[in-house]
Amino acid sequence: MDTATRGRIEARLRSQREALRAEGDLEVRAEVDTARKVDDDAAPLAEMAKVIASNRNRARAEELAQIEAALQRLADDPTEFGMCEQCEEPIPTRRIELMPWVRLCIDCQQGREDDRPSAKRRHLTDYQ
Ligand SMILES: [Zn+2]
Repeated sequence: MDTATRGRIEARLRSQREALRAEGDLEVRAEVDTARKVDDDAAPLAEMAKVIASNRNRARAEELAQIEAALQRLADDPTEFGMCEQCEEPIPTRRIELMPWVRLCIDCQQGREDDRPSAKRRHLTDYQ
C-alpha cells in the first residue's frame, strides 16, 4: 500500500471515529414504570425502545473499538497495514477503503465463515 492510500485511509478512520464520538450514546430512558401507569400499551413500547437504543450503543462501541484498533495498527506498523493477517497477501485497496478495519482478505474471511459449524455451505458439500 502506498503512502497516499495509507494517508487517505487514516484520514477516513479518523473522521469515522469523530463522527461516532460526536453521535454519543443514545439515551436509554427508564420511563417504563411511569408509562405503565398512564397506558398499559406504552410499557412494551418503551421497553423495546430501550433495547433498540442499547443495541445501537453496543454496535457503535464495537465499531469505535475496531476503528481504534485499525488506527493503532496503522501507527504501530504502517507497512503491515492492509496485509491479510492469515495469508499475508495484500488486501485489495477497494476492500480496505470500504472497511478500513478489516484484517482478512475476502478469501480468508469466507474460509473462516465456512469453518463455522453453522455454515450452510459446509453442510451441503458434506453430503455431495
Ligand atoms: Zn488472506
